[in-house]
Amino acid sequence: MESGDEEEDNIEEEEEKVKSSKGRRAAKVARLVIAPLVKKKNWSWSAYLEEERTIAAPLKLFKEHQSFPQSRNGFKVGMKLEGLDPCHPALFCVLTVAEVQGYRIRLHFDGYPECYDFWVNADSWDVKPPGWCEKTSLKLLLPKGCRDGEFNWNTYVKNCRGQLAPKHLFKSLNTSVTPSGFRAGMKLEAVDRKNPSLICVATIAAAVDNRLLIHFDNWDDSYDYWCDASSPYIHPLGFCEEAELTLTTPADYKPPKVFTWEKYLEETGAQAAPARAFKQRPPHGFHVGMKLEAVDKRNAMLIRVSTISDVEDHRIKIHFDGWSEEYDYWLDADSPDLHPVGWCQKIGHPLQHPNDSPVLPGQGCPTPGCSGVGHIRGPRYGTHYTAVSCPYSDLNLNKDGLVPDRLNGESLKEIFFIKVKSQPRLPKTARSNTPSHIYVTMWKY
Ligand SMILES: [Zn+2]
Repeated sequence: MESGDEEEDNIEEEEEKVKSSKGRRAAKVARLVIAPLVKKKNWSWSAYLEEERTIAAPLKLFKEHQSFPQSRNGFKVGMKLEGLDPCHPALFCVLTVAEVQGYRIRLHFDGYPECYDFWVNADSWDVKPPGWCEKTSLKLLLPKGCRDGEFNWNTYVKNCRGQLAPKHLFKSLNTSVTPSGFRAGMKLEAVDRKNPSLICVATIAAAVDNRLLIHFDNWDDSYDYWCDASSPYIHPLGFCEEAELTLTTPADYKPPKVFTWEKYLEETGAQAAPARAFKQRPPHGFHVGMKLEAVDKRNAMLIRVSTISDVEDHRIKIHFDGWSEEYDYWLDADSPDLHPVGWCQKIGHPLQHPNDSPVLPGQGCPTPGCSGVGHIRGPRYGTHYTAVSCPYSDLNLNKDGLVPDRLNGESLKEIFFIKVKSQPRLPKTARSNTPSHIYVTMWKY
C-alpha cells in the first residue's frame, strides 16, 4: 500500500478511536449538529424566494411520484420486504426498514454491513411485499447463509424476530398496467446510463407492470436499469443507423465480423421490440433558476434547498444553495430525488437551508459549508470530524462508487475497493482481470 493510503488509514483509525471513546457522546453530537439545521426558526420558502427574486419550480412540472404524497408513510422500523439493489438493478433482495423519516425509508440488506443501506420514498416501485418475486417469477437474492429452495418468508421473519411488511403499504401494487407491446427477450438499442455516450445492443431482460429491465448483450448486469416505454434512453432497432450514430455491438462482434440486426436476431432467435411500443416522453418544462428540494446524493439522508443550474431535454443540473458549484450534478428530470418546494414540510422531513448556522471552528468538519453530518462510509456513522471521512471534502468529491461492491466482496475479510470513475466499459470476462483498475485503499469490517 502506498504511503498516502497508509496515512489515510491512520487518520481513519485515529478517528475511529476518538469515536469509540466518545460512544454515546458521539451520538449526542450527531443530534446537536442536526438540530440547528432543522429547527432554525426564521427560514421560510416564501421569504427566501422573495429575497432571491426567483420562483419555485411549478408543481405541474413534477411527476406524481415526485409530488406531494396522497397518503402517509406506513412503514415501520424492522419491517421486512423485497426490493431492488440500486447497484445491481437486476436483483431483488431481502431488505429491512432501518429508519423512517417523513415519507422516506432507509433500507438495509439483511446480512450485509450498513454502508450499503439506501433511501427510497415510501411509494417507490423498487420495493415490494414479501413473496412478490415468487409470484412474478423474478429471482430473489437471499440473505447470506440462506439456501435456495429452503427459504420461507414466514420462518425467516420468525427466526429473526422481524415482521413482514403488510401489502397495503406498497403503493406501486395499485398502479394500472397498460399493455405496452414490449415483452421479455425482445431486442432494442439502448443508452448505457453509466457511459451515456454509448448506445448499445440490448435486450429486455424482464417486463413487469409498466417497467422494463434493460440488459446489455454480453455485459454484466451491473449496467442494467429499469425504465418504462416513455424513457428517452431506449430506441427501436435501426435508430443509430438512421441518426448516423455508432451502435456499440456485443463484444464478440469485432471486425472483420460485421454486425447486422437481421443476422443477430436470427443467431439469437430473438424478436425486435416493435417500434410502435416506444413512446418517448416530451422534454421536461423546468428552467434554469427555478427552486426545488433535492436529495443530496453524497449524503442521502439530507434534502437540500436547491436551484436548477442547467437543463437538457430530459435532465436537469442541481445546485445546492449556499454550496460551491463544484457540488452540482445532473439528474433525470423524473428522478424520485427531486421534489417541489414545500415537500419536506408537508411530509415531515428536515430541509437543509442555505447558509445554516456554521459549526464553531474546531468542533466540526474542516470542509467549508459542511456541518459534519453523514460519512463517506455511508449511514454506518452519523457524523464525521475529518476531511478524509467527509462526503464533501476535495478528497472525496468525485468518489462515486467508493464502497466495495456488495456482492463481489462478500467472501473477503479485507476488501479492496476499486476506483471505477471514468472506467471504460469492459466485458464481463475482461473486468475481473483488467490491470487498469486502480486499487485505492483497503476496507476492514
Ligand atoms: Zn464534512
